[in-house]
Parts: sequence; structure tokens; C-alpha cells
Amino acid sequence: MFTATGDDWADRAAALSLHTRMFIDGSWEDGTAEPLAPISPRDGRALPPIAAASAADIDRAVRSARAAFDAGVWSRIAPRERGQRLIAFAQKIHDNAEELALTISLEMGKPVREALQTELRAVVNCFRWYGEAADKVLDELPVTAPNSLALVTREPAGVVAAVVPWNFPLTMTAWKLAPALAVGNSVVLKPAEHTTFSALRLAELAHEAGLPAGVLNVTPGAGHVAGRALGEHPDVDVVTFTGSPEVGRRFLGYAAASNGKRVWPELGGKTASLVLPDADLERAVRATADGCFYNQGQMCTASSRLLVPRAQYDRALEIAAEVARTSLPADPFDVSTSMGAIVSEKQLAGIAGFVERAVADDAELAAGSTERFSAVDGGSYFAPVVLGVTPAHEVAQREVFGPVLSVIAYDDVDDALAIANGTEYGLAAALWSTDLNAVHTLSRRLRAGVVWVNCFEEGDMTIPFGGVKGSGFGRDKSLHAMEKFTDLKTTWIELS
Ligand code: NAP
Ligand code: MG
Repeated sequence: MFTATGDDWADRAAALSLHTRMFIDGSWEDGTAEPLAPISPRDGRALPPIAAASAADIDRAVRSARAAFDAGVWSRIAPRERGQRLIAFAQKIHDNAEELALTISLEMGKPVREALQTELRAVVNCFRWYGEAADKVLDELPVTAPNSLALVTREPAGVVAAVVPWNFPLTMTAWKLAPALAVGNSVVLKPAEHTTFSALRLAELAHEAGLPAGVLNVTPGAGHVAGRALGEHPDVDVVTFTGSPEVGRRFLGYAAASNGKRVWPELGGKTASLVLPDADLERAVRATADGCFYNQGQMCTASSRLLVPRAQYDRALEIAAEVARTSLPADPFDVSTSMGAIVSEKQLAGIAGFVERAVADDAELAAGSTERFSAVDGGSYFAPVVLGVTPAHEVAQREVFGPVLSVIAYDDVDDALAIANGTEYGLAAALWSTDLNAVHTLSRRLRAGVVWVNCFEEGDMTIPFGGVKGSGFGRDKSLHAMEKFTDLKTTWIELS
């Protein structure tokens, strides 16, 4: 399991039967908005059109979610039972992992091997983890005077809207759905336009695993129509969102203008990988470049800024350029491929624009080019780029969401910290050193939600994931994520 083999993935993709309708109240329905017209970035081929939700369709989905919640078919069953069905859901995903991985690869271009090995493994693990946790979180019994009894309990919030991006489509979805469902909510999921097929298949598997009708609805559609309608809906209690800072802030606005619903934004990043003078430079630079190019650089945590002591700058640029030159894109359906296609032509043009402007602004182009790369005819490919830049360069400040690494020289530790903290973002950071004192003092001063030391992208379900500053304040994963989807209730009882 979770190991992609064989060379027949293109044939298998052609034979996939893809869902193209919305999943509302346990059945497949047509949408009343302009259908989505997805394109596979692997080869530019048109995929089947998908029904898209209008505000009226979203209203129907929210009503269904509310009715299921009020009926108690999920919200008031024993937590143990909810947990068991989530574990059954995880098993269904496990049993269909190859098909789901292939669907993701087809719709957004990541290598099928990565989709299976990394993404599907994480998704199965996430649903299992929250399924197991469902009946292991305790409420509180405060210490009171003898004539009273106080209960502090956590109640499910009600209807949760989940709006997610396309880069790790099912992982992000699992991070939202699993904790929200584990504590008893009903959910309406709006997948990203590029990754709707995989989300619809997930809904079907959830239904097969015993989630009652209305507990999980999937409403495909355009962000500014379907996403916005969820954000503005007066009967949605919580929005959990992963995506760009711009859209995240819109959701805060939708909430303010409607019912004051809770919004949990998990937004972009501009991760600094800070290499201290004592570190193993080669190892740190290689890991940083890999962390920047992974998933075609379409990662909120992408280690897109490499900070090195000025004396080691030339050597660092050389090593990073070598990694870039040996990480070229190839056919996502070839199991030996580690870098696939960029999600869309629009995204590709955006990435190339960042590189063009950097070069025009005197950045040093150490690897890659401003031109697209050719891997599969008709597809959207872009080879990794390494740039030598100053902290003020646009490319060192803004999120590219593509395989573009900025290498920056620093003079001393205070300078390095100022550069690391000197963007609008604060999602993650990495530190490379074996000096215990430096590691602890610097990690405290880094303004980031996650700090990796002598590693990159490590972790498991037990740790919270999310950012500070412009990266938002929501946290996925860990038991803390369950709190986002509950309300505290106090019951005070006078005893006579
Ligand atoms: P995005 O454009 O913000 O879209 C995210 C979701 O919001 C999509 O479902 C999108 O729908 C929807 N949306 C777009 N415009 C909307 C609007 N006006 N109102 C309501 N919903 C709207 O982000 P993306 O391009 O999919 O993903 C890239 C971004 O996600 C990057 O900034 C990245 O850093 C961030 N990200 C963060 C994390 C994290 O955990 N912190 C993880 C992964 C990605 P459509 O698809 O229809 O546009
Ligand atoms: Mg977008």
C-alpha cells in the first residue's frame, strides 16, 4: 500500500469515472451556477465539466447540514460511535487510495507517487487519528463549594463551512473535516476549483462509511460565488479556511457583515531557513532547496528563503543551483517523477512573472529560467529557479507559490533574525545549528507558528500547525483543532 508501481497510470486515468455533480443531503445534484471547466495541467486536456453551486444551492446545503445537526443523527450519537465511523471512513480511503491519488495527480499535476505516498497516507492517518480521539477528550468539573456543582462541557458548534485550496487538496480537507466531524458538527465543504473530483469521491466514501445524509455536503463552485455564499450565510457557525491571505481576510469581512460567525484562517507563508555558521552547510542547503521545490513549490510552508552567513553565500548558491538542476519536472504519471506540473497556466504565468521582475531588478539567476519547461506536450511545467537576492527584493517578500528559491546573505545573528522576521508572513521557519543555546534563543525570537530545527517539514498529528501575523491564526492538527469547532458550555447546579 502507498507505493506506486507500474507504468499504466495514464491508461488508468483515462478509465477513471469522475463525479461531476454536487453532493447535498446524501444525493448527487445539479448546480445552478455556470459549470466548472477543469483542465488537467499534466497535458492541458479538458476534463469533464462539473456542476457548480450558486448561493441558492449553498443555502440548500447549509439547510441540509442544519437539519442533520438538529436531528442529532451525528451530533448526539455516542462519541465512540462517531469515532468508529470516522475510522471506517479512513479505511475506505485507504482501500481506494490509488484511485484518489491518481485523481489528484490528474486534476492538479502532482506526481502520482507523491500523491499516494505522502498525501493519501496523511489523509488516512488524519481521519484515523481523530476517529480514535473522538471519545478521549475530557470535559471539566471545576472545584466548587459543597452546595453547588459546575460542569464545563464542549458542545459541537453546529454547521461548519470548510473552504480549502488545491495544493494538498485532500490533506487540507482532512485537516478540517476530521476534527469538525469528530466533535459532532455537520460540514459543507467547498473544494478548490482545480481539485473538485477528488473531493466529490471523498464525499461518496464518507457516505458509504456511515456518515448520515446532510452531515457532509460537498458543493463545488467558484470561490467568489460558492465560497462567498458560505462566508455570508447567516446559518453557518464556523468557517475553517486555508488559502491566500487576500481571501482569508475576505472571509473575516463576510463574517463581520453577516452573523459574526467564527473564522479560522490558515494562510500563506514565506518560510526563512536560517543556516548558522556552525551548521553543515551542504546538508542545510540541500534540505532547504528540496523543501522549496517540493510539490512544485506550491506549499504554504515552502522554504523559499535561504539565509546564510555572507562568507558562505557563494557556496550556498552553488549547492542550491545544483539541486535545482537535478530536480527537473517530468510526467506526473511516471512513478519515478518527483516534480510534476504547475496547477494551471495562470499560476505558471504568475511564477514566471516573479522571476522576470527579480532578474530585471538585478537578482542573480543561478539556476532555471523565466521560460516554461517542456515535459509532457500541452502541460504546464516550470523548472526550479535559484536567485541570489537582497531581503528587499519582491521575490524575497511575497509568496510565489512556485519552485523559486531566494538566497540571501546575512552579516550577524541579529541581521539574520531581522531578515527572517521581515515579511508580512509568519507561518514557519527553519534553523540549522547544533549550538543548543543559539537554537533555543533564536527559535523563541522567530515570529512563526512552527519552527523546524535541523530538519524540514517534520511532524505528526499530535502537533498544531498554523501561523502568526499575515499567515492567519487558525491551527490545524492536534487535539487543539477540535476546540475550534466547539463552544464551551457552563452548567451551574445549586444543590440543596
Ligand atoms: P485561494 O485563492 O485563497 O483559494 C482558496 C479557496 O478559497 C478556494 O477554494 C477558492 O475557490 C476560495 N476562494 C477564492 N476566492 C474566494 C472569494 N472571493 N470568496 C470566498 N472564497 C474564495 O488560495 P489557493 O490559490 O487555492 O491556494 C494557495 C494559497 O493557499 C497560498 O497563499 C498558500 O500559502 C495557501 N495555503 C496555506 C496553507 C496553510 O495551512 N497555512 C496550506 C496550503 C495553502 P476557487 O478555487 O474557486 O478559487
Ligand atoms: Mg486561487
